[in-house]
Amino acid sequence: MAQRTTLIAGNWKMNASGEMAEVLTDGLKAWAGKPGVEMLVCPPFPYLGPVGAMIAESDIKLGAQTCHANASGAHTGDVAAEMLADLGCSYVIVGHSERRADHGETDSDVCAQAEAAHRAGLCAIVCVGETEAERDEGATLSVVTDQLAGSLPEGSPATSLVVAYEPVWAIGTGRTPTNNDVQDVHAAIRGLLCERFGNEIGNGVRLLYGGSMKPTNAEGLLALQDVDGGLIGGASLKAEDFIGIADA
Ligand code: PEP
Repeated sequence: MAQRTTLIAGNWKMNASGEMAEVLTDGLKAWAGKPGVEMLVCPPFPYLGPVGAMIAESDIKLGAQTCHANASGAHTGDVAAEMLADLGCSYVIVGHSERRADHGETDSDVCAQAEAAHRAGLCAIVCVGETEAERDEGATLSVVTDQLAGSLPEGSPATSLVVAYEPVWAIGTGRTPTNNDVQDVHAAIRGLLCERFGNEIGNGVRLLYGGSMKPTNAEGLLALQDVDGGLIGGASLKAEDFIGIADA
């Protein structure tokens, strides 16, 4: 069976100030580490440089929350994957449901962003997830697998790809699917990856769960067979909670 390093990723979203970023990062540096567990922080663009400098001597990894598909050009306000790599990022989140909703990003946009991440040598964390209405219609598996099929570039190497399953209705709400439901969706994602890229790559890709993960529910979620880590929003803004999840 493929050995997959657990990834505990913090998505700070559009939160933090310079001072808060410093205090939070300082708190995270107190993490003693755990064999087989990788910790990642994804601050807003303006804090990537300062946070990157603070964690440079630690095992904590740096990531961004999105990138543009192109390497350069007339795209005011956008940031290229190559620029993120220059700043010391090794990961970038693409296709978060908030980007899909706020910026109209489609599966093909997300696919192009993931390709850009690979071009720049970054690992792409591709997010997918159903809305509450889609869940109520019983369409979770088809929505998630269709989204994923359209969002993945061809020839993704396992080491450059992470998939995050984030039910939209669970993000920031305190609600989560049952552990069985999470495992069912992750197993379907794993099946799609194996079908598309072959078993070796498919079984090597890490699958994260995201949506109201906290220290109190992390242990059960992280113990599921096809859950290889978490993408954490709210609870990543408190060092104590984020460390609690990494230790779970
Ligand atoms: C997220 O937005 O990626 C997320 C999982 O948020 P929260 O943990 O706050 O639900």
